[in-house]
Amino acid sequence: MTSRRSFLKRIGIGFPAFSLLGLASFSSKAQEPHFGSDNQKAAIKPVVLSTWKFGFAANEKAWEVLNSGGRALDAVEQGVQVSENDPKVTSVGLGGLPDREGKVSLDACIMDEKGNCGAVAYLQGIKNPIRVARLVMEKTPHIMLAGKGAQNFALSQGFSLENLLTEESKARWEKWKLESNSDSNPDKPEINVEDHDTIGMIALDKNGDLSGACTTSGLAWKMHGRVGDSPIIGAALYVDNEVGAATATGKGEAVMKSLGSFLIVEFMRQGMSPQEACEKAIRRITERQPDAKEFQVGYLAINKQGETGAYSIQKGFTYNAFDPNRKEQNTSGHRFETAIRTY
Ligand code: ASP
Repeated sequence: MTSRRSFLKRIGIGFPAFSLLGLASFSSKAQEPHFGSDNQKAAIKPVVLSTWKFGFAANEKAWEVLNSGGRALDAVEQGVQVSENDPKVTSVGLGGLPDREGKVSLDACIMDEKGNCGAVAYLQGIKNPIRVARLVMEKTPHIMLAGKGAQNFALSQGFSLENLLTEESKARWEKWKLESNSDSNPDKPEINVEDHDTIGMIALDKNGDLSGACTTSGLAWKMHGRVGDSPIIGAALYVDNEVGAATATGKGEAVMKSLGSFLIVEFMRQGMSPQEACEKAIRRITERQPDAKEFQVGYLAINKQGETGAYSIQKGFTYNAFDPNRKEQNTSGHRFETAIRTY
């Protein structure tokens, strides 16, 4: 201590100046140590968050697992399967709206508290891509399998081929084909706010471990072969058990450009709250992508303390948040203009 003070004197920095320097270096939130004083608070747990209104039923399933002391990984895997199995959810699994050629292809990924992850992309004919993603994680040396290879792997694991295009989704595709003028511009499929909605789910279990899952049929009427952000670790999902977890929904191309979920976890690592981190990651999109007013992206985040955050470019992003004190459906309620003005 003495030598430190005399060193400062020797180089001409007295105590007041040093305090000022110290103050400056801690005035920015980004430089605070991880979770600072929050370390004193007891963590809220278990917690589970998922995207969109239809995710409520998925959250209920995940909550059952978490509340009985189950692992976050099992909770998210079982939770999102509720949406995959529901033919009325037309943006995930069975009943998912097809691509412009009438083919349903699914993307999914999963990540656990140890940093293990698995993913499938452009998977056809298999109802539960999230289960296949988990098997990729646990039974192969790889992280992602795509297309025919992913399908063959699923079949080798006992899955069977199913027709995922329901009559209702087929009818919507046929109507779209009649009404769409996209044939005049086949290279530029429409990406609008209505025809998508992935389920992204992140959870903190009673043990304090984090995991996440994300599964989708992607953008309706996408180009055949298109893969979005949902199976990309770091884009639609990221989990770091020391820090937190994040997930994304919305225009996958925009999320991929900024690796949104990884970005949010890194912002939390720098000391931001989940809410601040989601807002800053949305701002990264709205500032860098000039057409951001035209599409939707929504983020959810949770930290090790069980604190949560949600933010979106457009108004109307709904999500489900269950913790021991509440069980509810919220809307991030943020408009593009608000996101811009906040910063
Ligand atoms: N992110 C998904 C995709 O781009 C769609 C969505 O979440 O709405 O495929």
